[in-house]
Amino acid sequence: MRLRDLKTIQERRKFLEKKTGISFFPNENFPDGFEIAQEKNCENMIGVVHVPVGVAGPILLNSKSASEEIYIPLATTEGALVASVNRGCKAINQDGGVSVYSENIGITRGPVFKTSGLAQGLHLKQWVKDEFSQLQRMVVSTSSHITLIKVDFQISGKNIYMRFYYDTQDAMGMNMVTIATQELVSFIEDRMKVKCTSLAGNYDIDKKPAWLNFISGRGRQVWSEAVLEESTIKEVLKTTPSAIHDVSVSKNLVGSALSGALGFNAHFANVIAAIFIATGQDAAHVVEGSLGICTTEIVDNNSLYISAFLPDLPVGTIGGGTNLPSQKKMLELMGITGGDKGSNGEKIAEIIGATVLAGELSLLASLAEGSLAKTHERLARGKVKKKI
Ligand code: NAP
Repeated sequence: MRLRDLKTIQERRKFLEKKTGISFFPNENFPDGFEIAQEKNCENMIGVVHVPVGVAGPILLNSKSASEEIYIPLATTEGALVASVNRGCKAINQDGGVSVYSENIGITRGPVFKTSGLAQGLHLKQWVKDEFSQLQRMVVSTSSHITLIKVDFQISGKNIYMRFYYDTQDAMGMNMVTIATQELVSFIEDRMKVKCTSLAGNYDIDKKPAWLNFISGRGRQVWSEAVLEESTIKEVLKTTPSAIHDVSVSKNLVGSALSGALGFNAHFANVIAAIFIATGQDAAHVVEGSLGICTTEIVDNNSLYISAFLPDLPVGTIGGGTNLPSQKKMLELMGITGGDKGSNGEKIAEIIGATVLAGELSLLASLAEGSLAKTHERLARGKVKKKI
């Protein structure tokens, strides 16, 4: 019997127990409904790995549509992370909350075609531009929730790369755009007698940190900002605006530049990974979400202005892992389950942008105050008695 022939979770576990001598916990129950994951999310499934989920907030979110308080689920094994984000939320709320704005740039798929050379490459580029309305109609036929927004090109030698941008409403959309792009590729191959070398030619660019995504954007782009009074920073964050600003410039800007980093921030990835895991986003997209800039300034009355810009956030509230029961519950906690013509996709992006700001503020303050190591020792090494 081979592993791949086994049909159920129990059969696979028994097979592995026999083969390896490792016994699975007999009482390791699945959360209700989790078996559905083996149909759409995970092949050869043998169980679930439990990741602790904490809650931070609420955070007072001021968007173009509403001002509301939102609780944020964070799935993590990094002790001190939830406490730190929570502290950032507290300070931000005390001074009126965080303002957020987002744009739907569109999720991308970027096939590469092989041409006979520059002349054919340029001809193909012009043809795709001329046929764009026809391509848009073809895309709509693949799903009732997808629109082709635009296409960018790049030519290198005999390769021509096309970066198709799609609005996929409330879904992150990578499956949807892969299916839609396959339709376009078949049409282009047939009409223009060129061969597609790869449906995904890394000009998308999916699951890799890249300047193209930073500059052009991918998925949703989010901006968040807050102003904190000196007294709030002293009371809640135990430091001063200028100390935070100094760390921000030295670390986020100069330190990142010296390192050749693509992210000019303190730890966007921490907050993004924790929300992604809690809400069933594709965790590999954290590498894209970690791009971005955090800035600070000292403004009127010695207050601190702080901002975060996230250029590349592929997120959704329907499809993929968001359909699993526990993950759906976490989306419910934030009031954003399922599809709603794109407004739920927008909202999760804005919540992430706001929470990232709270995380930046708290970590910068902790570094400014010199308490980072102490806090981790206290919380992550379990030197505090925690109540269940
Ligand atoms: P999906 O589960 O494949 O598709 C989402 C579906 O939700 C759509 O087909 C759409 O149905 C339906 N839907 C209903 N209401 C909607 C609404 N309001 N907005 C948007 N869609 C709505 O999810 P996906 O987001 O396209 O793909 C996510 C998955 O792709 C993740 O599991 C990720 O790991 C994986 N992924 C795939 C690739 C790849 O190359 N294929 C790459 C990276 C990640 P209709 O079509 O009927 O309209």
